[in-house]
Amino acid sequence: MNELREKIRAARYPAALTGAGISAPSGIPTFQGSYRGKPLRTYLTREYMRAHPLEFFDLYCEMVGWCQKSPNAAHYALSELNVRVITQNIDGLHARAGSTDAIEMHGSLRFVLCPRCGWQQDSAEFARRFRAAHGDEQARAVLRCPECGARIDTDVVLYSDAVRHLDEAVDIAQRSDLFLVIGTSLVTYPAAELPNIARQAGAQVIIINDDCIAAFRED
Ligand SMILES: [Zn+2]
Repeated sequence: MNELREKIRAARYPAALTGAGISAPSGIPTFQGSYRGKPLRTYLTREYMRAHPLEFFDLYCEMVGWCQKSPNAAHYALSELNVRVITQNIDGLHARAGSTDAIEMHGSLRFVLCPRCGWQQDSAEFARRFRAAHGDEQARAVLRCPECGARIDTDVVLYSDAVRHLDEAVDIAQRSDLFLVIGTSLVTYPAAELPNIARQAGAQVIIINDDCIAAFRED
């Protein structure tokens, strides 16, 4: 019998805040490194995307490639046990594991979209088209919405953007009676406040930082 699973089953409204540590066993990088000699952080702003769209989407396609990985046992356990997930991750692995209502506070790499008309495309298909373009002119054409011609956008929350769904995340933290914190060092505000909000509302808070998969393993 697994103690954590039993606690989740006994909870009225179990919820979890997850970070990079839950996806590391799947082979997802932390996105803290560099690309073509520059820190990733340099690329991931609105200003950079506007000024250097080809370079921005070159990195975007690379990141999409890094995320073509499978969810692991911890993602699947949260989905199977009906835990409401709030994640800081952009890899989309919770959704792929079946947590289709996961709150993605930093957006995701799952699709690109048109900010004007709402057109969307799976990011792997977009990356295939972008990589197949010959020369800058063709690549720029791929960055235009096929429906209305506007410049397409990423769903990922960039460094200059506000996090998403914060009100909903706070609401979940307040309603939950069991709040798991999995694979996050809780340095990123405002997500770092959520466990405190849950605790103040009466939830038991459990922090799992060492081995996310072992925590859910059934003997
Ligand atoms: Zn459009």
